[in-house]
Order: sequence, then structure tokens, then C-alpha cells
Amino acid sequence: MTFNDLDLINPLMRALGDAGYTKPTPVQEKAIPHVLAGRDMVACAQTGTGKTAAFSIPVLQNLQNSGNKRKNIRALILTPTRELAIQIEQSLTSYGKYLPLRHAVVYGGVSQNPQVSKIRKGIDILVATPGRLLDLMGQGHIHLSNLEVFVLDEADRMLDMGFINDVRKVIKVLPKKRQTLLFSATMPGEIQDLAKKLLYKPVKVEVTPPSTTVEKIDQSLYYTNRPDKRKLLVHLLKEKDIGSALVFTRTKHGADKVARFLSKAGFKATAIHGNKSQNARQKALGDFKRSKISVLVATDIAARGIDIDELSYVFNFDLPDVAETYVHRIGRTGRAGNDGSAISFCDPNQKSELKGIQKLINNRLNVLSEHPYPMTDSEEPPKASGERGKGRGRKPKRNFKRRSSGSKRRSGGRSKN
Ligand code: AMP
Repeated sequence: MTFNDLDLINPLMRALGDAGYTKPTPVQEKAIPHVLAGRDMVACAQTGTGKTAAFSIPVLQNLQNSGNKRKNIRALILTPTRELAIQIEQSLTSYGKYLPLRHAVVYGGVSQNPQVSKIRKGIDILVATPGRLLDLMGQGHIHLSNLEVFVLDEADRMLDMGFINDVRKVIKVLPKKRQTLLFSATMPGEIQDLAKKLLYKPVKVEVTPPSTTVEKIDQSLYYTNRPDKRKLLVHLLKEKDIGSALVFTRTKHGADKVARFLSKAGFKATAIHGNKSQNARQKALGDFKRSKISVLVATDIAARGIDIDELSYVFNFDLPDVAETYVHRIGRTGRAGNDGSAISFCDPNQKSELKGIQKLINNRLNVLSEHPYPMTDSEEPPKASGERGKGRGRKPKRNFKRRSSGSKRRSGGRSKN
């Protein structure tokens, strides 16, 4: 299938051509016709599958073709993080470059004044994070009574980050007659319940589940002691001559420490996390994208939404407590059909996290034991898997939707990031 088969209007086709897109990704192929037809939709798709374009392109087309062009805020895209919000707005700018539709983005951590003045001038599409949106609604700067389309992006992350009640508050004030699109990488019970209330006869779209997307990524594991992790990281960055890498730590403090250690070892490294100002985070991201820095050390929430096409290495310096987070993290690499490598460190206290991850992806990570900092604190030395190269072993099962209400997920909430 090509974009031509999707009945897109010329200004969108030209913009997609400029962006270098030749054919729709699976989620775009499945979602775009239904969204164009005005249907509600629940889509199970993770970041990296092209889901932003899957909703942005048909929403732009529908708004352009509808007769309500003079009304303010006709579409709302609600997304959990500032980085994701900024990226979605950039995508709207790119796909909508030949259309007269106006958009704005609102998120916290920066002055509200430029955001408010842009909205006052009149916009068609608003991209927002929940906190700032509610704040501006409370102050009377944002009214959603003209809304035609509501997109809830990364619904499971909203739950993880403790935003689900804010989302519910937003939903309460939306006009009843509207089109609603819900995107989520996983479908925990709470999101399924929300979907039931929020959507009217939704089309269900499910693309290759994340566990299969992850297949393309070379996943390896190094057992080591906690105090040796930083040295092991430096060793691997040098040994593999890694030009650019994203390193995940569990805490903000940990991210700072690792970035400092790397800087001392001669790498251009910086940390991003929730304690850094939005401007500092954007600058770090920009420097990373432009290769001014080679290693970005991030906590999960700060890294959410990072979209760097060329990223080939992700390090799990700390394994995440929530297994799904592993999939989100390593999904930063291996984008748009490229190969990627995910390297995880496991210390003696993280074996249960490792077990959870391997159960979720229904595969074992490829243990690499030839390195100078092996785990010595363990009573039971881990066995190497024997397989080198790609950790692709058995084909992972479609096991992402199994989890029920997600009580454990919330342990990875915003306090840590
Ligand atoms: P997303 O899942 O929305 O975060 O998109 C992941 C990446 O895929 C982004 O860098 C997009 O620019 C890119 N992308 C989205 N759709 C296409 C397409 N049809 N062809 C090529 N790249 C795409």
C-alpha cells in the first residue's frame, strides 16, 4: 500500500513527500481510513510505529475538509510528557505545512504567557500535557466546547505517571458529540475501562505488538556488581566505539552521577531528568540530536518521547522495576526499520526485574560474560546463554495485553523522575 491508496488530499501528500515517507507504516495503513471516516478508534501501538502520523494526518485532513474553520480549538491531542507534546506539534508542523490550519502546544515548566497568547489568536489543534491544560482551563484561557476530535495519546503512560485523574477531569468537559482516538502501547484493565466509557463503537487497531517490534533489536545482558556499572559502561562505550548512546538510570541522582563519571572519562555526556528545567532538557536533547553530546543519561519520564532516528544504542544502566518500561526504553532504538542494540546491566539485586522482563518479552536476553567486571556478589554465578549476536531466539508471543489492572506499574511513577 502507498499513501496514494489512502485518499489523502494533495497538501498532505506533498508534505509526506517532503518528509521522505514513501509508504504508510502498518498502524497508519490500518488507522488512517477509519479516522478519515470519522470513527472512534482504540489503537494498540507503541512509540516508534509511526502512530503520531497515524492520527495527525487524518485529523489534519478532516479539519481541513470540515466546515467549521472559524472555530477555536477543534482538536485536542493530550499526551503525557512535554517532550512528546513538543514532538507531536513538530509533526503537525511538518505534515500540515501546506495547510492553513493553526496549532499550539501547552506544557508545564515554562511561562504560560506565550502559550496563552498563541491560543488567543485562534488555533485549530491544541497539543497539551494534562497539568498545564487543566491549569489554563481553570484560568479561563482554554475552552473546549468547539472540540470535534479528541486524541488521547499514550494512555497507559498517563496511568503510569499518575495523570489518569487529570485525564478524567479533561474528559468531563469535552462535548459529547466528538470523535475520540485512544492510543496506548499496552492495554491494562484501567485503560480498557476508560476506553469503554470514552469511545463510541470504536474500531480496534492493533499493530505488531511491541514484543515483536523488539525482535529487531539486538538485546544483550551483562551481569555485574552495582559499583562496577559505571566502569563497565565506559569499557563498552570504548570497546564498541559507540558514537552515540542513550543510557537509562532509575533515579535523577543516578543519572547525574553517571553523566559526571562519563564526562570525567572523556565522553561528552549530559543528564536529563525531571529536576532539570524544560529549557535545559530541550537543549540537551538538541545537542544530542546534533551530536554535540554523545551520551545522554536519562530517567524514564525525561526520556519519554525522545525521537532520534539514528539512535543505535540504548543502555539499561539500571533495569526498570516495571517490565513494560524495558520495552519502551529499548524502543528508542531500532526505529523505522533500522537495527538497534539494547545493552542491559543486571546487578545481584535486580534478578527479579530481569525475570519479569524476560517473561514479558518471552525471550531470554543474550548474556555476554566476557568482560572485565563480572558479577562476584552473587551466590549463584549466572550462566551465559551461549548465543552470541542477536538475542532473537524464539519468536516472542503476543503477550502484551495480558496484564490486568496495572497496580505494579504505578510504582514507576513520577516521584522517581
Ligand atoms: P512515532 O511512532 O510517531 O513516534 O514515529 C516514529 C518515527 O517514524 C518518527 O521519526 C517518524 O518521523 C517516522 N515515521 C512515521 N511514519 C513514517 C513513514 N510512513 N515512513 C517513514 N518514517 C515514518
